[in-house]
Amino acid sequence: MSFAATILTLYPEMFPGPLGHALAGRALGDKWTLTARNIRDAATDRHRTVDDTPAGGGPGMVMRADILARAIDESGGTGPLLLMSPRGVPFSQAMARDIAAGDGVTIVCGRFEGVDERVIERRGLTEVSIGDYILSGGEIGALAVLDAVVRLLPGVMGNSASADEESFADGLLEHPQYTRPAEWEGAAIPPVLTSGDHAKVAAWRRDARRRLTARRRPDLFAKYLSDA
Ligand code: SAH
Repeated sequence: MSFAATILTLYPEMFPGPLGHALAGRALGDKWTLTARNIRDAATDRHRTVDDTPAGGGPGMVMRADILARAIDESGGTGPLLLMSPRGVPFSQAMARDIAAGDGVTIVCGRFEGVDERVIERRGLTEVSIGDYILSGGEIGALAVLDAVVRLLPGVMGNSASADEESFADGLLEHPQYTRPAEWEGAAIPPVLTSGDHAKVAAWRRDARRRLTARRRPDLFAKYLSDA
């Protein structure tokens, strides 16, 4: 059975977009399916209106609860119901792993100033953020979430061992990577990596990952040490 992704958006033509290419694209229709539904199809008036002015005043528009709820109810989507939102819980590799272990995900993409709070409460939407900055809509966030999830689905990544060694897999960032040429612009590959001594290579990588994480992401490193 393949993993079912359902996207609710005002711009269904943005999907699959980049996910129609490379790793995710090759698995699309086989290991996973993607349905992008237009929220506007749930509108009821002649102009297919989905938004209105914010209660209490202020700039911009807000997506209506009744229209969005109907779009959700009629979507046929399965799995966790997410709303892309800068107020949400920060998306993480652990969340990607949880979602990939299920049979699907349904993602609502906001636009305008956001969506009416009541639909978040009544439909139990989990707000998910992809970072502390404001995008103009949830579509790029949904693509980011799906990309992270799809590559973890069974049979999608060619060499599945690589998932276990990547950044975040065990709380550390990845070590530096090198490939031929052995010397480039006067810079050599660290000799231990070409020594053929697997134990030494593993030790060098472990050490490099720890130093790199401590320097760049003291927050991650503190958590790594306290979890160990
Ligand atoms: N007025 C809102 C921002 C709305 S941005 C606020 O200040 O919180 C419009 C839409 O883009 C949002 O509804 C959300 O779906 C999406 N979006 C913007 N930034 C995002 C982020 N960092 N992560 C996930 N979705 C985001």
